[in-house]
Amino acid sequence: MTQATRIAPGLAAFAEIATPALVIDLPVLDANLARMAAAAMDAGVALRPHAKTHKSPDIARRQLDAGAVGIACATIGEAEALAARGIHGLLLTAPFGSLATARRLLDLNQRAPMLAVVDHPAQVELLHRASRPSDPPVSMLVDVDVGQRRTGVANAGAGAELAGLIAADGRFRFAGVQGYAGHVQHIVDPDERRAAAGQSSEVLARAVEAIETEGLAVPLISGSGTGAFAFDRDGPYTELQTGSYALMDADYDRVRRGDGEDAAFGVALYVLATVVSASRPGQVTIDAGTKAIATNGPPPHVILGADGARFRFGGDEHGILDLPAGAAQLPIGTRLLLSASHCDPTVNLHDAYRVWHPDVPLQRWPIEGRYTTT
Ligand code: PLP
Ligand code: MN
Repeated sequence: MTQATRIAPGLAAFAEIATPALVIDLPVLDANLARMAAAAMDAGVALRPHAKTHKSPDIARRQLDAGAVGIACATIGEAEALAARGIHGLLLTAPFGSLATARRLLDLNQRAPMLAVVDHPAQVELLHRASRPSDPPVSMLVDVDVGQRRTGVANAGAGAELAGLIAADGRFRFAGVQGYAGHVQHIVDPDERRAAAGQSSEVLARAVEAIETEGLAVPLISGSGTGAFAFDRDGPYTELQTGSYALMDADYDRVRRGDGEDAAFGVALYVLATVVSASRPGQVTIDAGTKAIATNGPPPHVILGADGARFRFGGDEHGILDLPAGAAQLPIGTRLLLSASHCDPTVNLHDAYRVWHPDVPLQRWPIEGRYTTT
């Protein structure tokens, strides 16, 4: 782990907090937000940070205060949760497939202008069917597949056709394109990552060209993530959608280690856990397992409370710490801080953050917009 937390003397502040719990180191979070805002501003590119990472109106507000032009959302539920707390400039970055979602998007767009991506005429049709004459026009971006093969039009020609369809419908506004290279962000070797990011940028630039050839302007080119923003900020993107940089995790700690200055985002997110069993020499069991820490990432690092211990998952409710040779057994009740394996899905397992700052009493910030059943 590249960075030590300053929480150490403040661990007592969590004594009354039930575990497992998520903790945010607020000075580190604010430093991350300022650093990404400066990186974008210096390159003359806008920043629309992704809320899929934190699902927090409180963090989104701080991102706007730090200079972001708006906030990106992965789901309509995230967008609604943010809008309810007065967060504007929302971009829905994932295509949708139901009339109900289209209607929710139109409802949000009545309160504050929304941007949404589409990658198929069927979504334009859904929005058209869901809309009423009194609805203000929705601004749309054409999502372009820049190599991940997950969402997005498959080629520049399809992108130009879809852009034309949007522009021809008086209920919509064609606002530009999105291309998110999800397959690039986590490539560990920085040179390989740069080359892959360059290929994705070329695909996106070709789609922009094809749309412009049809006589349409492409004011917004949105995309990028924490792994590639240092390359992407030089173009063709007009705005960056980076998300994980705010909180960071064991995965990005590994990926971005070789990136020099651009890797200086600190770990701001921790899982607070308690030793609940200590029956065997050389290991203890803690109360954070797969229901507290996402499994799709490298194992979390033990940051505080058990020097040199290694974490492994021990089931749904349990994690096991293998202690270094010769280390004293940790007593039951010992509190520890671990980094997250992968921040976004770890956050989604919890309903709030406990927010630590050396000079401010512990705060509680809700995590909102998780899936709900209607
Ligand atoms: N944009 C989109 C469409 C995403 O899916 C993601 C993350 O998965 C991001 C932006 C943010 O990427 P990162 O968390 O790597 O900064
Ligand atoms: Mn992620």
